[in-house]
Amino acid sequence: MTHVKSAGPCYTRLHNQIFIAMILGAILGSQFGEDAAFWLGWLGTLFVRLLKMVIVPLILTSIVTGVASIGSGRDLGRLGLKTLTYYIATSMLAIFVGLALVNTIRPGVGADLANAARENVPDLQPPSSLGDIFIRMVPTNPIEALASADMLAIIFFAIVLGVGITRLPEAPRRTLSDFFNAGFELMMVVTGGVIRLAPLGVLGLITSAVAAAGLDTFKPLAWYAVTIVSGLAIHMFVTLPLLLMLIGGIKPLTHYRNMRDALVMAFSTSSSSATLPVTMQCLEERVGVSNRVTSFVIPMGATINMDGTALYECAGVIFISQVLGIGLDFTGQVTVAITALLASIGAAGIPSAGLVMIFIVTDAVNLKGPEVALIIGAMLAVDRPLDMLRTMVNIFSDSCGAAIIAKSEGETAVNA
Ligand code: ASP
Repeated sequence: MTHVKSAGPCYTRLHNQIFIAMILGAILGSQFGEDAAFWLGWLGTLFVRLLKMVIVPLILTSIVTGVASIGSGRDLGRLGLKTLTYYIATSMLAIFVGLALVNTIRPGVGADLANAARENVPDLQPPSSLGDIFIRMVPTNPIEALASADMLAIIFFAIVLGVGITRLPEAPRRTLSDFFNAGFELMMVVTGGVIRLAPLGVLGLITSAVAAAGLDTFKPLAWYAVTIVSGLAIHMFVTLPLLLMLIGGIKPLTHYRNMRDALVMAFSTSSSSATLPVTMQCLEERVGVSNRVTSFVIPMGATINMDGTALYECAGVIFISQVLGIGLDFTGQVTVAITALLASIGAAGIPSAGLVMIFIVTDAVNLKGPEVALIIGAMLAVDRPLDMLRTMVNIFSDSCGAAIIAKSEGETAVNA
């Protein structure tokens, strides 16, 4: 894969088109509500289907290529260690910000959620336990994992294949490396084609999202939303840029600019997985991160590294405890912090995954029963806009990780 750092007129036009589509979608969705969603929503649905069509082959080929090209076990171990350290450290930083804010603003104290909760409870399905998620990372049938887009299992299987390839004798190693590499390049070309349709997809997605979010439901949850949004903003505009500058020596403004297509895509789709192809393209073609680092760090990051989700899980559960009038002591808050980290790792990169995983965290601190489900139901009423923002933060953190790790590996082209 070549790393062209061109910002040609076509690229700029696409970016502007996406921006115009967002504004148009917001206007149409708020003015014409369900009618607009009916006429335009299908564009968004089709666009997300196209993105999803790319994801499984892209993840498989890119991780296999990434792991196989890293070569020796020592290099793989070093890159793996850096990546995991970055994922855990940034998620913990986000969690601290969430903890600090929710304990200062105390949005749950006195919030009356009865109305907002009314219609949402039946939609929620509590997830399987953390232990289960861990065990199911190892697929008994890789083909089934691929067919059902089970991301953690696909990642595991792809790493195993990649490591296996490095152990083969020269001839089959080259054949298989070339095969997966060619598959990866093909998927990036297909992705490029799908991304050209982004303005239409974004128009459909934003129109439906705005039409669906009735403004009245927001009122009792306003402080809760303010807490989450402030936390996400601090992480995105203070913590991560500081890491970019201090550890990577990378200019944050340039990085925002380079990643803007991925950020818009994350915002419109609320899905890290659906955004994955765009994230990879921005990193390789705009930021100048090598394919070796991108294909290792990003597919895993899209599923495992979710700073925005971690912050949200933690602040959300403490919000629930405040609504119920149950004070969580220090041990309780530490338990929330740790389970929030694990829940964010286990959350799939799809819309509202974070909200569903919140049951794991509430369980860990013994917040159970119908009232809890009712409050989570109320939170669902405002989840879409919060999900759009936390997905953006999730993606941005992945991209900072790739850039910082690439710099630490001696890649001088990054943001040059
Ligand atoms: N939608 C988020 C993502 O894909 C996950 C979440 O719900 O927090 O990154």
